[in-house]
Amino acid sequence: MNTEEIIALDKEYVMQTYGRQPLALKEGKGAVVWDVEGRPYIDCVAGIAVNNVGHAHPNVAEAISKQAHKLIHTSNIYYTEEQVRLAELLVKVSPHQKAFFCNSGAEANEGAIKLARKYTGKGEIIAMENSFHGRTITTITATGQHKYKKNFGPLTPGFKHVPYGDVEAVREAITHKTAAVLVEPIQGEGGIIIPPEGYLEELKKVCHENDVLLIFDEVQTGFGRTGEMFASQTFKVAPDITTLAKAIAGGFPMGAVLASEEVGNAFEPGDHAATFGGGPLACAAALASIQTIQDEGLLAQSRSRGECFKTQLKDLFQEYGMVEDVRGRGMMLGMEMGMPCASMVDEMRQQGVLVNCTAGNVLRFVPPLVITTEQINEVTDSLDEVLRRNSD
Ligand SMILES: *Cc1c(COP(=O)(O)O)cnc(C)c1O
Repeated sequence: MNTEEIIALDKEYVMQTYGRQPLALKEGKGAVVWDVEGRPYIDCVAGIAVNNVGHAHPNVAEAISKQAHKLIHTSNIYYTEEQVRLAELLVKVSPHQKAFFCNSGAEANEGAIKLARKYTGKGEIIAMENSFHGRTITTITATGQHKYKKNFGPLTPGFKHVPYGDVEAVREAITHKTAAVLVEPIQGEGGIIIPPEGYLEELKKVCHENDVLLIFDEVQTGFGRTGEMFASQTFKVAPDITTLAKAIAGGFPMGAVLASEEVGNAFEPGDHAATFGGGPLACAAALASIQTIQDEGLLAQSRSRGECFKTQLKDLFQEYGMVEDVRGRGMMLGMEMGMPCASMVDEMRQQGVLVNCTAGNVLRFVPPLVITTEQINEVTDSLDEVLRRNSD
């Protein structure tokens, strides 16, 4: 099928929930994807910070294929070696001691909220304005942006929002009913917003003083995106609970909740479950993906190439008045424009580069961590061209 035929069938048969690009993809390799017409694109979207080890990584593809021939699914009524090995690996690379597996970021946040409520015996969750935590009823409630909630009420009781970056606002919002503070270490969908220096550390202190749990939503920042395995390591602040998904299994759907020993032990048999959670296929993919991040030195690469990418974006910031800011950590970068950036996304695509626009005016660059310096140069050359055209 060609692009037009695919788009026509989508219109006819698929619920129109996405504002899609007019592009149908059929394969990928490393940081490049090809459309059904055979045209290549450098992929700075990476399935929205999912394909951290690159498209079609042979380690991940082989792990999935081998596992698929052995055992695709079994119930959590039984044990599997893949699940316990993955839990052990996640504990090794994170500040946590216990894992629960599910299938998506929203589901991980739902699990974290249940865990925090069970552990503390309290109901209230403090979340941030401009945040994003998923699309279920409770996670749109937690999300601090009106556009995701309108038309979908009634929402879940027990949530409060405070400005991101303001520790005093959190301190004031905490009551004797507060179970947890839920925060993204860097706001992703909100526009690659970096917290002020020392914010997360202070937040941890305030939570600790008030017996309130600190939950990091690392669904987008996890698995090398910010230059360490987790942003909690980049910012050197260990939360009580971390939620994960996106890049965890190299593109295979999976989510996880990680917690300290004590908090994790609050869940007892029957408290929480997911039919597909931690299935052998997803676990095999995650093991391969995380081991690849380690074996190929992708954390160091995320830092060094990310820095080089950011420097080039900053050069463009110096050159073009329409660029208002460049910011980010590792391979999680944003270029804030003084205008909506949807049309720039189209122009970049026509130049063979995939980027997306978040928060209306922020070009987001979250490429596979394996992107080469030559590919980064091509991306910034295209961007230079698009910016030049738009400033005439
Ligand atoms: C993408 C995202 C989610 C939601 O993940 P899904 O897998 O789409 O449910 C939650 N939190 C953050 C920070 C995200 O970026």
